[in-house]
Amino acid sequence: MKALFYLGPRKLELKEVEEPKDKDRVIVKVLEAGVCGTDIKTFLRGHHLFKPPTILGHECYGVIVEKPSFLEDVKIGDHVVVAPYAECSVCEKCRSGFPELCEKKTYISSGCFAQYITISVQHSLRGLFKVKEPGRQIVLAEPLACVIGTIRKFPNGKHILIVGGGVMGALFAIYLSTKGVHVEIVEPFEWRMAFLRDLGFHVVKPGSLEEGNYDTIVIAVTIDEPFQYLDALRDGGRLILFGGYPKDRRLTLDPYHLHYREVTISGSFGYSLPDFAEALEELGKEKELYAKLVTHNYSLFEYDKAFERALNKECMKVSLGMWESEETGAP
Ligand SMILES: [Zn+2]
Ligand SMILES: [Zn+2]
Repeated sequence: MKALFYLGPRKLELKEVEEPKDKDRVIVKVLEAGVCGTDIKTFLRGHHLFKPPTILGHECYGVIVEKPSFLEDVKIGDHVVVAPYAECSVCEKCRSGFPELCEKKTYISSGCFAQYITISVQHSLRGLFKVKEPGRQIVLAEPLACVIGTIRKFPNGKHILIVGGGVMGALFAIYLSTKGVHVEIVEPFEWRMAFLRDLGFHVVKPGSLEEGNYDTIVIAVTIDEPFQYLDALRDGGRLILFGGYPKDRRLTLDPYHLHYREVTISGSFGYSLPDFAEALEELGKEKELYAKLVTHNYSLFEYDKAFERALNKECMKVSLGMWESEETGAP
């Protein structure tokens, strides 16, 4: 089978490797996988969690081609999506409402930019989800689960500003607006502004915001000065750092907002398995709408074009189809 190896910053290579034949584990024939911001960051600069040589990719769906007989919840031929990690549900962190911080997570065994992936029985029991409505939008399951996890954790109010109109910002906007929340998006980049306006969203440029206007502000992108947006929050509102920052990074903040205006600053990371299940539910309900966010699809053999596209930003989600000419289940 073919697998795309990450060999170090800016080095990818498509290699022929042995097809998995393990009868004690679940084997999934990968149909399509999303290229995530983490894959791009790793491609550009490396990542402490992904040491080369390794296979990247964690947003995939496919079909079960092999499974141990005692696993009865799924059968061969089922369309599934694999959660990249699954919390244990019983540890202190899981029980205290922070499943995404669980220290006993199980993981997908390798990246999914490959034609087949194997999944341990332990991970299959929790992290394998059957897909009722297959299609390209399913590559958004993991990022949408992270969005849903963020919304679950915090009361949000009725008027929300999303800073950053990339795929994460767009997922927040779609999810919240389908729940009746009034959403505005800050995005400076023309292509994305036009894309989001086409979807019917109100998009504004940075620096043109009214003060004290929003119940919640989600910073859905990593920017140098996220706290410049505190002025736009209403008193008692909440700013959520959804975009990640490297450890030891320092940001400046005017504490006036915390004390005299009682605004709250929170962070959010990852998803829980119930968030993942809800994401799949949503992707089934609003199939066409979410599918629009997967703006570019390339075959695994054109991985260089896919990464180039993801880097030039004139796109939302870029996906890789693992098989050159076969049906991917896409609409
Ligand atoms: Zn991702
Ligand atoms: Zn746990």
